[in-house]
Amino acid sequence: MKYSSIKDLYAKVSSELNTLAIIVAVVSLLLAIALPNTVSATHSWNNYHWARQANPFTLKLSSNLSTNWQPYLITASSDWSQSSVLDTVAVTGTKNPKTCKPTLGQAEICNASYGRNGWLGLAQIWISGSHITQGAVKMNDTYMSKAPYNTVAEKNHVMCQEVGHIFGLGHQDESGADLGTCMDYSMSTNSQRPNPHDYEQLQQIYNHLDSTTSVGAIVNTDAASDSSDLNSSQNWGRRVFRSKSGFVEVYERTYKDGSKLISLVNLADHQ
Ligand SMILES: [Zn+2]
Ligand SMILES: [Zn+2]
Repeated sequence: MKYSSIKDLYAKVSSELNTLAIIVAVVSLLLAIALPNTVSATHSWNNYHWARQANPFTLKLSSNLSTNWQPYLITASSDWSQSSVLDTVAVTGTKNPKTCKPTLGQAEICNASYGRNGWLGLAQIWISGSHITQGAVKMNDTYMSKAPYNTVAEKNHVMCQEVGHIFGLGHQDESGADLGTCMDYSMSTNSQRPNPHDYEQLQQIYNHLDSTTSVGAIVNTDAASDSSDLNSSQNWGRRVFRSKSGFVEVYERTYKDGSKLISLVNLADHQ
């Protein structure tokens, strides 16, 4: 393109700069609208949730814990019960913590030395449709009884997170960043409890009501009647997720009737 004078060239360039300025302004505006959504991104796990006909619902956390672990469940139970949609009650369990066999309609909470199997904590939920029918949490003392995990902060962190998974919550972050919630992977002492975003997420997950209930109820499925050794990753089905950080793995096993076992693994030795 040829310009007859410097003045013409100047006019052309300045009009193009104006166009560019408008584009920049529009793009920034769009980003400003889009970014808050990214920050408050959902951390529900596939929208899995307990079926219930009213809120708040009360979920039994059945404790098969040794005496030293019990206070951590009491803390997690009372923290999560701050949610407006759910309450939890810790009750005395009757299960062998080594196998921690699940019970329909509630969660079994266990600790034992499960061996050097790679997992610090394991949360398992059994799914029918998108409804959770039972849950189990296992804290692995093989790792948790040693540094860097044998601290009050880490025990609160892992207990709070594994129990959070039983409601259908995923992680807020898996990089190790400190988001001030037990649903992150930071070793910071800020990560011992839920934060407001976790309660918001629970509100979203449980915003609707169902026509059936799986809380305290018997919902029989093929998944729930699987009697294989569920401590073994060989019985967890397909690995569907592994975080870049190597902190998290998720396995999914689908049964004949479409019901599922979901295993969320909190990996040890990642530091
Ligand atoms: Zn529902
Ligand atoms: Zn987790």
